[in-house]
Amino acid sequence: NAKEKFSEISVAEFFSKNKELAGFSNPTRALYQTVRELVENALDATDSHGILPEVKIYIKEVEPENEERPARYEVSVEDNGIGVPKTVMAQAFGKVLFSSKYVIRQTRGMYGLGVKAVVLYSQTTTGRPITVVSSQEDSNFVYYQNIKIDIKKNEPMVVEDGQLDKRSSWHGTIASAIVEGDWTRAKPKIIEYVRRTAIIAPYAELWLVTPEGEIYFFPRATKKMPKPPREAKPHPHGVDLEQVRSMLMSTQAETLLDFLKEEFQGIGDKTATEFLRHVGLKPDINPKTLLKKEKLKDLEALVTALRNYRGFKGPRSDYLSPIGEELIELGLTRMFKPEWVKAVTRPARAYQGHPFIVEVGIAYGGAIQPQEEPILLRFANKIPLLYEEKEDVSYKVLTNIDWGRYGVQEPYQLAVLVHVASTKVPYKGVGKESISEIPELESEIRNGIHEVARSLRIYISRKAREELAKEKIVS
Ligand code: ADP
Ligand code: MG
Repeated sequence: NAKEKFSEISVAEFFSKNKELAGFSNPTRALYQTVRELVENALDATDSHGILPEVKIYIKEVEPENEERPARYEVSVEDNGIGVPKTVMAQAFGKVLFSSKYVIRQTRGMYGLGVKAVVLYSQTTTGRPITVVSSQEDSNFVYYQNIKIDIKKNEPMVVEDGQLDKRSSWHGTIASAIVEGDWTRAKPKIIEYVRRTAIIAPYAELWLVTPEGEIYFFPRATKKMPKPPREAKPHPHGVDLEQVRSMLMSTQAETLLDFLKEEFQGIGDKTATEFLRHVGLKPDINPKTLLKKEKLKDLEALVTALRNYRGFKGPRSDYLSPIGEELIELGLTRMFKPEWVKAVTRPARAYQGHPFIVEVGIAYGGAIQPQEEPILLRFANKIPLLYEEKEDVSYKVLTNIDWGRYGVQEPYQLAVLVHVASTKVPYKGVGKESISEIPELESEIRNGIHEVARSLRIYISRKAREELAKEKIVS
């Protein structure tokens, strides 16, 4: 018969059943994604808090492959970051959609999913928990827990835990997971990921120890670090009805005027007053009255006006943390040994109430291997993006650049770096591999590439003139 059977699953079960959504589509991607999620968390725990990162990645084969299944690897990532408080350790690693990054701040993580996707994958392929060892700076203890996820309930299960006295000043986290993977296939991607992380974060010290016992060491090239991102309040252009409703529920403000001034970024007394006159709401009413059913029309009018009013300042961008021209040039020089390099940090812009900054760097000539297409290095909030290149807005922009106009000849000895820093990167999927074609973003990326390419054209034409002059002297 045609009767439907209805049931409900937890968010943990959902991601356990749909691992490819989080980037775990096959043993190669899964191993790569495991490394990536752990490294992202390690870097968020360091440079976002003003700590010069030291990140060590160890990958070890623990069981060889057999006819039934791929090989199993232990992936351990150690950082010298802020550590995880013991009180939230189990949830941070064992409850899907639990995060310290659900705030308006530029971070690598944003979904509260990454490390739990690793745990789900490891648990469902090898049955093993994740091991977390962590200590905070001011703590006298090092805590450890072996954590699994109760998939039906989306709750952490601590299989084992304990604490040790801390005898040194160490702080940071070591997270280790045992996962199925295909190291041979994943190896080039993982090495490239670490290499690109070293380009975008030349202030980090990075180690990768492979199952063969090879050590890839990227020393710190500078102690200069971009200033850490800061948390901002919501921008009025980026809110919606439900968000304003929940802000109204939690606000301490006693008047609507104060509500606007206290809960949003960039609204001062004058702007708030003018804005309320424009909407036709009284500034001194208790803001919570807007939560009443009969005031729904007023609430809707308020939210529509918040989203569209032209009199607000643009979203705060000084809280973002771009890399900066100097560090990009340093990173590119170190990796490519080019003949010419230049980077630009574009002025901040916004889309849908979210601020963003585009940075572009170009390396040209020298030791860059000639290629049919320019090398594209994509980054979002300091994360290298390696997969889904052709899906990405930067790829679309880059393929439409006419390099001949800038004097660059084929085959290309050209690497183009694009970094998007934002409190909300518009990724296409939760695996965070490609960025959507937001018009504001697209045009900034194009402007950035054009700006650097113009300098390159000047360099190339000057060089050509000089060579011509030399030839004349010789002949
Ligand atoms: P997200 O990174 O998107 O927040 P994750 O599931 O990857 O989601 O991580 C959940 C939370 O666990 C993080 O928000 C962070 O607070 C904490 N965390 C994970 N790894 C580390 C680490 N190495 N150091 C400090 N905190 C960590
Ligand atoms: Mg994360």
